[in-house]
Amino acid sequence: MVKLQVLEQDETKIRVIIKGIHRSYANAIRRFAISEVPTMAIDEVVILDNSSAMYDELIAHRLGLIPLRTDLTRYVLPEDCDCKSTLGCPKCRVLLVLDAEAIDKTREVYSGELKSEDEFVKPTNNFIPIVKLAPRQAIKLEAYARLGKGKEHAKWQPTTVSVLKPVSDDEDVYMLYIESSGSLPAGEILTRAIEVLHKRLVEFTEKLKDVK
Ligand SMILES: [Zn+2]
Repeated sequence: MVKLQVLEQDETKIRVIIKGIHRSYANAIRRFAISEVPTMAIDEVVILDNSSAMYDELIAHRLGLIPLRTDLTRYVLPEDCDCKSTLGCPKCRVLLVLDAEAIDKTREVYSGELKSEDEFVKPTNNFIPIVKLAPRQAIKLEAYARLGKGKEHAKWQPTTVSVLKPVSDDEDVYMLYIESSGSLPAGEILTRAIEVLHKRLVEFTEKLKDVK
């Protein structure tokens, strides 16, 4: 029988003991936590004004790497959304706006200055530097965030750490430790990863039926 015992858990990390499943399945859970559990990240940026010294592309790249708090119950992956629109809709994208300037002294613009149309979906950390502005320089942009998966690009990885260690090889006992980027609670990353494994196994069983 499969057993899961939680040793340690808070918002950002979870440590569990998994008993009674083959190493390959335990490892699949570890891998799915990194690559298959979606999170929100900024994917498209429309620069309206940029008089800073930094190129538009570099600013867009930096914005993409800011972890955003994610709600998987309200948003769907663009490919799964019924809007079928490249522009997206309120179910598959969120607009964040940045409008900042430096008046009389040089200053750094931080992630906390991004204004999101969804109060829930916002940077998990308000102090990630985006761009430095010299006096009289300004930055104004619209950033579109959407769900994506780590296998597509690392910016959508929900985890900063996901490791599996054998506790006892003979009896199939493993310790799995997951640390979240802050976009999703660590416990949710684990349960979603297990759901992905379950779904894959169901699909595989269905395929086997076709073969017979
Ligand atoms: Zn949509």
